Amino acid sequence: MLGRIWLKPGKEKNLLARHPWIFSGAIARVENARDGDTVDVRDAAGKFLARGYYNARSQIAVRVWTWGDESVDRTFLRARLERASAARVASLDQTATNAYRLVNAESDFLPGLIVDRYADFLVAQFLTLGIEQRKTEIVALLAELFAPRGIFERSDVDVRAKEGLGSNVGGLFGAEPPERIEICENDLRLLVDVKRGHKTGWYLDQRENRRRVAQCLTAAGSRERAERQVLNVFSYTGGFAVAICGANNDARVINLDASRDALDLARENMRRNACAERGEFVEGDAFLVLRQYRDRGIAFDAIILDPPKFVHAQTQLQSGLRGYKDVNLLAFKLLKPGGILATFSCSGHVSADLFQKVVFEAATDAKRDAQIVAQLSQSADHPILLAFPESAYLKGLICRVV
Ligand code: SAH
Repeated sequence: MLGRIWLKPGKEKNLLARHPWIFSGAIARVENARDGDTVDVRDAAGKFLARGYYNARSQIAVRVWTWGDESVDRTFLRARLERASAARVASLDQTATNAYRLVNAESDFLPGLIVDRYADFLVAQFLTLGIEQRKTEIVALLAELFAPRGIFERSDVDVRAKEGLGSNVGGLFGAEPPERIEICENDLRLLVDVKRGHKTGWYLDQRENRRRVAQCLTAAGSRERAERQVLNVFSYTGGFAVAICGANNDARVINLDASRDALDLARENMRRNACAERGEFVEGDAFLVLRQYRDRGIAFDAIILDPPKFVHAQTQLQSGLRGYKDVNLLAFKLLKPGGILATFSCSGHVSADLFQKVVFEAATDAKRDAQIVAQLSQSADHPILLAFPESAYLKGLICRVV
C-alpha cells in the first residue's frame, strides 16, 4: 500500500490546475511515507488528487508522476520515455542535428530527470531523491529503448543539495564517452566535453537561437566591402560564433569569456568548421572588457549577449536586473548604426516582459533607438508546459539599432 499525504483545506488548487509541485506548507498530514517513496495525495476531505514522489527534506515535498490512479512501474516509465522521444522525432530534423534534450524533467512528465543525447551517447541528470531512487530502472530503460553506446551521469548540480543528495559523475552504462564528443547541430560539427562542460556539456537550449541569429545577420546583408565585426559575449565554447561564421563568410567574431577552457574549445570548434582565422578569443570579465572597448571607441556590427543566470532566487532579482541592464547598456553603446544585438536571459525569475523592459531601459540610457527583430525562447526540445510556467526560463531579443 502506498503512503498517503493529506493536503490542508484549499491547498488542492494548484494540483487541480495540473501544476506538478506540492510545497511542504500545503501538507496537513503524512502517513506511511519515507523520503523518495511514491505516495497518494488527497485533499482535506480525503479525495484522491494525484500520485507523486515525496521528500520531507525538500521544500517541494511532492512532485507529481500522474493525476490518474495508475501504478508507477517500469511500463509507466517506459511510456513516458517513449512519449518524450516521439516529440523529438516530430520536432527536430535529426539528419541535421544529433544532439538534443530527450527528456526535460517536469515538462516531459518525468519530474527531476534530464536526459540529453550527444550523438551515440546519453548524458543524464538525476535532480531529486525520488528520481535518484529509480536510477537503475531508468538506466535500463534508456539502454533498452535508445541503444546508446554509453550513458554518462552528470548529477553535479546544486539543486541536489536541497534534496539531501551529494553529487555523482561517472559512467552508468556501456562505453565511457571520449574527452570530446563530436556532435552535429544544424549541420555544423562541434565538440562537446560532456564530462566537464557546463550543464551536460552544451547549451542545447540555444540551438534554434544560434540559427536565428546567424540568419538574421545574413539577412542584414554585407556592409560595403568591410568585414563585419561580431562580438560574442559569454561565448562559452563558441556555439554562436560557429553558427554565424558558417552562414556569413564576411563575419569576424571575437569570442569573449571568463573561462580559458571554454575558449580553447571555441577555437577548436571554429577550426573544425574552417573559420578559425575569422575568430578571436579574449579571456576576461565581460563587464570590464566591454567598458574597455567603449573607452577605446571600438564598435561592432553585431553583439551577442548570452550571460549565465544572474537571478537564482527572487531575493536576487534587483541585483540581477542591474546586471542585465548594465551589460545591455554597454552593448548598445558599442553597436554601429544598423547594428544588431542578440540578448538573452536564462533566469526563470525574470519574465520575458520584464527582460524586454530592462533591455528597453538599457537602450534609452545608451540613447539608442532600437527595433525588435525577433522575440526568442528556448528550443523545442526544452518544452514549456502551460500548467508549469517555471519550465519557461530562456528568453531573448534580437534588436536592430536604427
Ligand atoms: N552562448 C553560449 C553559452 C553561454 S554560458 C552558447 O551558446 O553555448 C555563459 C558563459 O559565460 C560561460 O561560458 C561562462 O564561463 C561565462 N561567464 C560567466 N561570467 C562571466 C563574466 N563575468 N565575464 C565573461 N564570461 C563570463
